[in-house]
Parts: sequence; C-alpha cells; structure tokens
Amino acid sequence: TWGEIREQLQKRVGKNNYTTWIEPLKLSQLKNGVARFEVPTTFFGDWVSRNYGDHIRHHLNAAGADVERVEFAVNSAPRAQDAAVAAKPAVKAKPAPKARQADEEMPGAPLDARFTFDSFVVGKPNELAHAAARRVADGGPVTFNPLFLYGGVGLGKTHLMHAIAHELQTRQPHLRVLYLSAEQFMYRFVQALREKQIMDFKELFRSVDVLMVDDVQFIAGKDSTQEEFFHTFNALVDQNKQIVISADRAPGEIKDLEERIKSRLQCGLVVDLHPTDYELRLGILQQKAEFYRSQYKGLKMADGVLEFLAHRITTNVRVLEGALTRLFAFASLVGREITLDLTQDCLADILRASDRKVTIEEIQRKVAEHYNIRLSDMIGPKRLRNIARPRQIAMYLAKQLTPRSLPEIGRRFGGRDHTTIMHGVRKIEELMATDSQLADDLQLLKRLLQA
Ligand code: ADP
Ligand code: MG
Repeated sequence: TWGEIREQLQKRVGKNNYTTWIEPLKLSQLKNGVARFEVPTTFFGDWVSRNYGDHIRHHLNAAGADVERVEFAVNSAPRAQDAAVAAKPAVKAKPAPKARQADEEMPGAPLDARFTFDSFVVGKPNELAHAAARRVADGGPVTFNPLFLYGGVGLGKTHLMHAIAHELQTRQPHLRVLYLSAEQFMYRFVQALREKQIMDFKELFRSVDVLMVDDVQFIAGKDSTQEEFFHTFNALVDQNKQIVISADRAPGEIKDLEERIKSRLQCGLVVDLHPTDYELRLGILQQKAEFYRSQYKGLKMADGVLEFLAHRITTNVRVLEGALTRLFAFASLVGREITLDLTQDCLADILRASDRKVTIEEIQRKVAEHYNIRLSDMIGPKRLRNIARPRQIAMYLAKQLTPRSLPEIGRRFGGRDHTTIMHGVRKIEELMATDSQLADDLQLLKRLLQA
C-alpha cells in the first residue's frame, strides 16, 4: 500500500524531506502504468518530480505496482488550490478524525487539518472575524445568522471556516457540519438535477446543523443555483441552524446576485478581513519559521530576514508562506545559513512580483469596468455625470495608489490640466465623507487593485 511505501521513502529521504515533500502527496490514480499524485501547487509538483520522482517509482514497483510513469497534478478542487506550498502551521495540527468521518458521510469538501484556531495568528486586521468565528465554533445558541466573512484573496477566510468545522467536530461530534465551496454546491446541484435526485439533494442540505459555503460570489449570475441556494438558506435559518458564508466582497457588492439573497446575507453578522498589516505578517512568519526550525534542525537564520519578508511581501499570506517554505527548502538543500543575501537570491521572482506597483492604466480599466463605462471615456472629453464621476474616482485612486504627480496624472487622462485633476481628487474626498456607497466603492476598488 501507499502507506507502506511512504514509510520506506521516509527512510530513504530522511524525516525532514519526508514531511515537507512526501507526506502531502495524495495518490489519486494507479492504472495503465501511471501513478498519479495530487500536489498542492505546480511548484511543489515540479520539485517532487525532479527530486523524488525516481525514488517513488522505484518503491512503487518494488511493491509490485508496475509503474512506468509518475505524474503530479495540482488538484483542481478549490480547496487544493488554496493550499499553501507545503506550508505547515507551527503548532502541530490536531488530527481531525471526527471531521474526516463526517466528510465521508456528507458530501462536503475535505477539511485541511492545518487550518485550526491554534494555527491562526490574530492581529488587528482579522480580530473581529476571528472573534466571530470563535463564537460560532462555541456551538452555543445561534446569535447571528448567517456569519458572513469577506475579504481579499489569502486573508484567511477558508482557514477560519475550517477552524470552525474542526472545533465543532471536536466539541460536539454529534453535529452535522457541512463545509463546501459555492462551486461544489453548484456542481452537486447540477448533478442532482441531471440524475433526477433533486429530492435527495434538498433533503441532505436541509438536514445539516451547520452549513458553511465558501466563496459564495461564485454563484452570482448562475440563476437556478442561486434559487436553490436561497431556498436551502431559508430552510436552515427557519430551523435555526447556523450558516457561515464567505466571499471576496461584501454582500451588497456582489454583482449579479439576486437582491433577496443579498439582503438575506446581510441579516446576520457581516465582518471583513482587512488586508494584513506589518505586525500580522511578521506574526504569521514567526509562527511558520518556528515550525520549520524544528523541522530543519541546525539550519540557521540571520536576524532581520523575517522582518524583511514581512516588509516586502505585502500581497497575500499564501505568497508569504510559499516564500518561507521555499527559503527553508532551498537553504537546507544547499546547507547554508538563511541570510538576507540568500533570501534575495532565492526569492528574486517573488520579491519582484510583489514590488509590482499599481498603474494608472489598471486603475482606469478597473474603474471603467466597475461603473460600466468605456475605457475610452476615461480619457475622453464627455462631461455627463455618469462618466465624469467615475473619471474623478479614477483620478483620486491614481493620486492615492501611485506615486505620480498631478501633471503626470493629467497627461494620462487625455492631457488634462493638473488643476482639473486636483479638482477631481478634492471632489471625491468631499463626497466620500457623506456618501457611504461611494466610500464602499472606493474601498472595494482599492482592494481589487492591490490584490
Ligand atoms: P482565503 O480563503 O481568504 O483566500 P486562506 O484561508 O486560504 O485565504 O489563507 C491562505 C493561506 O494563508 C492559508 O495557508 C492560511 O493558513 C494562511 N493564513 C491566512 N491568514 C492567516 C493567519 N491569520 N494566521 C495563520 N495563517 C494564515
Ligand atoms: Mg478561500
């Protein structure tokens, strides 16, 4: 069995390498001479293939499997894409046998054992979301329904949802907790329609105690799925069952989502995860580094490396974790201390990518898209309000998010004078103070542009 083969591999490659590279592999297929493994990322797959592909094949064959080729594929299920590059939390993740069991009888997505409350670092940007998640995980009487978590990519929405599920399964194993992505919800729904098992589908989703749907923005624009989601949602709320939803933006900002669903989603507690700040990033890095230090014993790290990374990689936590994983793997491979120099060499591509600055063109494009106007109207002369206002918004964002001067911005807006730009920026600042819709729009646009 793969389990036995893994043990042999562990002897061969050593404990550290084993934990980092072999343990996360999932054997998903073994036939016609091909062994296929699921890996969390392409980088991971390449690495394992290059370094351990032959060992793996050898041991499979020694066990009588008759394998010609070993393949590594990134699992296309949404959860696996979310998984960080072999990153493990510093705190040893509790095995979650209960959750596993529930997965088997329920059609939910598997829970990531690493995504627990223990391994979640709390800081200013996520403290409210964390507190709300904790409250739900207590499993007490339902106080707000649904809990709606939203925020940009990689800020910990999925992590918190899995943590709730783990915690509930430990504290109250009798509860039926179902976690899945909105995409999986749709997939199951369509499948049920096709196989004429819609009654089973309804019954199943209405019989859970806690329903968690991740990335709900996915069902926007998908009419029959929305409809079914709405009914499921209402049925559960009526029975006073807890619902937890996540999305990449606030309910009101999800386009092509039915109004009645938006308003339902707003009925409970809506909390956002803010972009990380320096302290939170450093905290997360320290936690992960502690774990790696215990894995790669003897590996030294110079002072200031973590601070450097927290300072430079600001985009998302997943990227941050991936960087650290690669850094440790690389340093242990070449047997060198992790210095700032080594860090800069090893992570050159990541550092370059995260230096990427928002451009005025991107701002114009995003704003035009958001307000449904033509990109050419951004720089054109039209003075109609429904065009002039978005144009001013783009000017404001250009001033805020880029280091360009007013005259430079003016040039990019069809050769307008710097006083026009200043007027536009002031106008938006003024409106923002009273127009909360506008303030929300700006916040959303900023987040999208900086993602
Ligand atoms: P989202 O679902 O919001 O896109 P995830 O929950 O998938 O983000 O998080 C991305 C990665 O970052 C995961 O590996 C997760 O464990 C990690 N992460 C995010 N926030 C934190 C945090 N506060 N503490 C520890 N790890 C975090
Ligand atoms: Mg997610």
